[in-house]
Amino acid sequence: MTGTRVLVLNSGSSSVKYQLLDMSDSSRLAQGLVERIGEQTSRLKHTPLATGESRERSGPIHDHDAALKAVAEELAQDGLGLDSPELAAIGHRVVHGGKHFTEPTVIDDAVLAEIERLIPVAPLHNPANLTGIRTARALRPDLPQVAVFDTAFHTTMPESAARYAIDVKTADEHRIRRYGFHGTSHAYVSRATAALLGRAPEEVNVIVLHLGNGASASAVRGGKCVDTSMGLTPLEGLVMGTRSGDADPAVIFHLARVGGMSIDEIDTLLNKKSGLIGLCGDNDMREIRRRVDEGDEQAKLAFDIYIHRLKKYIGAYYAVLGRVDAVVFTAGVGENAAPVRAAAVADLETLGLAVDDELNAVRGDEPRLISPAGARVKVAVVPTDEELEIATQTYALVESNGYAAPPQGN
Ligand code: AMP
Repeated sequence: MTGTRVLVLNSGSSSVKYQLLDMSDSSRLAQGLVERIGEQTSRLKHTPLATGESRERSGPIHDHDAALKAVAEELAQDGLGLDSPELAAIGHRVVHGGKHFTEPTVIDDAVLAEIERLIPVAPLHNPANLTGIRTARALRPDLPQVAVFDTAFHTTMPESAARYAIDVKTADEHRIRRYGFHGTSHAYVSRATAALLGRAPEEVNVIVLHLGNGASASAVRGGKCVDTSMGLTPLEGLVMGTRSGDADPAVIFHLARVGGMSIDEIDTLLNKKSGLIGLCGDNDMREIRRRVDEGDEQAKLAFDIYIHRLKKYIGAYYAVLGRVDAVVFTAGVGENAAPVRAAAVADLETLGLAVDDELNAVRGDEPRLISPAGARVKVAVVPTDEELEIATQTYALVESNGYAAPPQGN
């Protein structure tokens, strides 16, 4: 293998996000997004990082194949074509890897079949991820393609955390257990937090709070996940932009029996119309804070519910870990919303947790501590970088294997 470039693809049902990185120095060469694939109003936005000047295309892009070809053309225009010998591999974000994909995995036909077998537990995500993989394989059949699973980092959870307390036979038959998501982010951020503390990941216990539009918490002991807040699907856990997070499962029976709602309607309610948007009509924390500052009671209640849930998870994971070295905030809300960070650890001095208001108010792209000097438990902000993590894992795998692409069947 000679090349050092890795293309990272994150394929959704009607979108493809991509980044091209050079792993000789982890730098970004280009990034972009194709949206509304299959519609008349598709859009491709491409940014070569050398100039930083974005280009846009609009007009119908019929399918993922056409989308990837358009991306390849844009990259070629910048001298970064996918036919370049510099390209070492393509890394795919795959949302659900079930119980068995514990590591990034070079994709062959058997791996594809297993990702397909997991569709019942990830009906929204895995089909789109598969389409992206198939398209990329057709485009560069000679190139190693690696699946990096959102669930992989959480496969170290003990059974006591991963199992729901429901009938074992039924659970196993339907593969019902807690898988967790956002794993590449929790992996990257927990490692970067250890680096920020100047210690090895094996030495530190960290609570990671990934607070974006989707949100999840994890308890990481010595670099390994021991609990996380998302479960069978990304619906469980924290209050999110549009998802309810934890709710008594009997809410569903009640809405069906008494509310007369169908299962699909309840699914939409809990995944798309709940969380912050269901509580106050906004899911953007900036807007919610603006409303809170203006004295809006509904926004204040939404914010308080969000913080209450977050605090409960910090407390729970503190107990799970026993000793906590750092609590770290990441993703859109975690990296930017100082009031969320301050409120989440307010009044927890007896647990050794506090933020320094001045440090908390500082904005920036670098990992940083926001706890007072000498604090027993550090509080940190560490910007996440899922694409870099996918590229790093992909490159490490193909480099160590001195790799050749596996044969393709169909
Ligand atoms: P993500 O899913 O990680 O991209 O996070 C997106 C969310 O981050 C948005 O919905 C906002 O709620 C939040 N966000 C982004 N920028 C800010 C900011 N400056 N202040 C507060 N929240 C922000």
